[in-house]
Amino acid sequence: MALMITDECINCDVCEPECPNEAISMGEDYYVIAPDKCTECVGHFDAPQCVQVCPVECIPINPEHVESPDQLMAKYRVLLGLDACAPVPHAPTANPS
Ligand code: SF4
Ligand code: SF4
Repeated sequence: MALMITDECINCDVCEPECPNEAISMGEDYYVIAPDKCTECVGHFDAPQCVQVCPVECIPINPEHVESPDQLMAKYRVLLGLDACAPVPHAPTANPS
């Protein structure tokens, strides 16, 4: 699923530079997330980075953009210009051991 920012956003600008997909930008009144760019950080991190840093917890799941983990990974590959079905050459490991 893509995430979304609610009107509780205080425009602190903490989340925008943390997004690996550049999906966050300033909207008309507060920050917004572009659903076509948000992979819920799948492919980059174990958890959504914007949610981790938001001080007011105003970034829930966007119910209008429900996607499976496979769909999010496919979106990640498309954003990187990779074939959506091809193996990811540098897929990050969650807990390398
Ligand atoms: Fe960006 Fe990740 Fe937040 Fe989506 S969940 S907006 S990809 S930081
Ligand atoms: Fe808004 Fe939270 Fe992002 Fe700050 S971190 S700009 S409060 S969504």
